[in-house]
Amino acid sequence: VFASVVRAPEDPILGVTVAYNKDTSPNKLNLGVGAYRTEEGKPLVLNVVRKAEQHLVNDQSQIKEYLPIVGLADFNKLSAKLIFGADSPAIQQNRVTTVQCLSGTGSLRVGAEFLARHYHQLTIYIPTPTWGNHPKIFNLAGLSVKTYRYYDPATRGLNFQGLLEDLGAAPSGAIVLLHACAHNPTGVDPTLEQWEQIRQLMRSKGLLPFFDSAYQGFASGNLDADAQPVRTFVADGGECLAAQSYAKNMGLYGERVGALSIVCKTQDVASRVESQLKLVIRPMYSNPPIHGASIVATILKDGNMYNEWTVELKAMADRIISMRQQLYDALSAKGTPGDWSHIIKQIGMFTFTGLNSEQVVFMTKEYHIYMTSDGRISMAGLSSKTVPHLTDAIHAAVTR
Ligand code: PMP
Repeated sequence: VFASVVRAPEDPILGVTVAYNKDTSPNKLNLGVGAYRTEEGKPLVLNVVRKAEQHLVNDQSQIKEYLPIVGLADFNKLSAKLIFGADSPAIQQNRVTTVQCLSGTGSLRVGAEFLARHYHQLTIYIPTPTWGNHPKIFNLAGLSVKTYRYYDPATRGLNFQGLLEDLGAAPSGAIVLLHACAHNPTGVDPTLEQWEQIRQLMRSKGLLPFFDSAYQGFASGNLDADAQPVRTFVADGGECLAAQSYAKNMGLYGERVGALSIVCKTQDVASRVESQLKLVIRPMYSNPPIHGASIVATILKDGNMYNEWTVELKAMADRIISMRQQLYDALSAKGTPGDWSHIIKQIGMFTFTGLNSEQVVFMTKEYHIYMTSDGRISMAGLSSKTVPHLTDAIHAAVTR
């Protein structure tokens, strides 16, 4: 009965790793994967995560019962504090509802499903370019997806004018997806002054902000600094949604731990919104898994573990920043034609190199270097040892 099923293409991002795994060259290099690697190219489990897990194993009160539909209560409270700030008036006034979801993706999907059922304007604006899963998540939830200009290939920076024009022309009430920090794939973020202009424009038009926060702490190494754009939107008293992921900043990729928060006008509205979120979640997966959320809650509520986490997080962010500098220096030393300063200006896990899809194909074929076809490379996949190989490949690609 399934004989007529046609083969689907590989996922454009995860498919890069599939191709990498098939390559038998000893020099192969995977810069496609959006996951942190050590200087030795190995995945990293944070020490503080191991410690929290040990703590959970030793605690006999830890059981494996179902969590409530909305997840672990402590985890939800602490997650809201992490993104909105401990002193957030919205939290103090109990007008935020937070539900534990399946990492960032699940949080976006639950938020989108809620909006499709209960919000009056079903159009969402996403930046061009954006993370490839965004349009699929929102389309499948039943929202109509439109785009706003974001990246300017000429400057390899923000097209701020285009962004303001497109959001200015959006219908009143439209939803706007904003990357909270470390925009994926471009590594280009607005400055705080630009965020303030975006906020004013969006509030004046009643546009609804939906923040995707997948990299808090990864952009600057500082959790509060990276949450600043979200906090300025919450500080004005207006509504917003925020999807948080602990995949990158705690290295909990496969634990699938994240949270969706909806900031409402009043406590009463927030509690009604939460009651509807439960109706979205229950038929999707009933309730979320307990282990990852317990790890996060253990770390966030213990002062010492929290501090240890921030040190390990900063070390990851700093290694990425140092890779940017090393790659930039190596290209400059080699005299590779072109301005490569965007490598050190962009932030977060990725560099949007500006290499085109033909150059990417060439680098994969001749140098066994894997990346997405838009020229995005994961700086976290690079090390001091592999910088020269990548430099040679980029040089060859642009001088061909
Ligand atoms: N949003 C963005 C912008 C991302 O880059 C990612 C991870 N690649 C996610 C959301 C979601 O990731 P996860 O579901 O693993 O938390």
